[in-house]
Amino acid sequence: MTGALQSDGGSPWPGKSCGSCTMCCKVLLIAALDKPPGTWCPHATPGKGCGIYNERPHECRKFHCGYLSSELSEEWHPVKSKIVLMADPSGGVTAVVDASRPDAWKDKPFYPQLKAWARQLLPQRKYVVVRIGKRAICVLPDQDYDLGPMEQHEPLVIETAPGPNGPVYRARKPDEGYAARASAPAKT
Ligand code: SF4
Ligand code: SF4
Repeated sequence: MTGALQSDGGSPWPGKSCGSCTMCCKVLLIAALDKPPGTWCPHATPGKGCGIYNERPHECRKFHCGYLSSELSEEWHPVKSKIVLMADPSGGVTAVVDASRPDAWKDKPFYPQLKAWARQLLPQRKYVVVRIGKRAICVLPDQDYDLGPMEQHEPLVIETAPGPNGPVYRARKPDEGYAARASAPAKT
């Protein structure tokens, strides 16, 4: 199921279209325009479309959200759900939520489906992350971890510990030394 959540290229699922939706023009980071997540693109007319459609950046042209590119039901249409689903580069699922309805992801059928994806992806070391503006929440099978503000390039750290019924998973941000270690030259 998650394999069908394309957000980079691909084609709309047969019979699906964006319609009057412009949700990705609000909730997503658009690097080419230096547009932060959670604010309207200056070229968007909410509910109508893009004012520079023929000249819009490549990252806008190639984007198809998870609703548009999969068989997910109409309840997931971003206009109704206030959630834009994306397959992240690591193969996990990112659910970007409109800050005007920050708890939308906790409703049915969304939350049970996010938990199901979390259970399905965890053995592959892939994760489900909810983003509301810059805030990130990692949805793990047993518990959700609100990680606060996180840049999109920051990796998640998932730790495991033995529990009474098997391993217990916990999500956290990288520690303060991460950036220095990541930029240090590799030892030969
Ligand atoms: S969020 Fe999805 S359905 Fe809405 S405009 Fe963007 S790609 Fe289309
Ligand atoms: S340039 Fe157009 S398609 Fe891209 S985010 Fe802005 S309004 Fe949306």
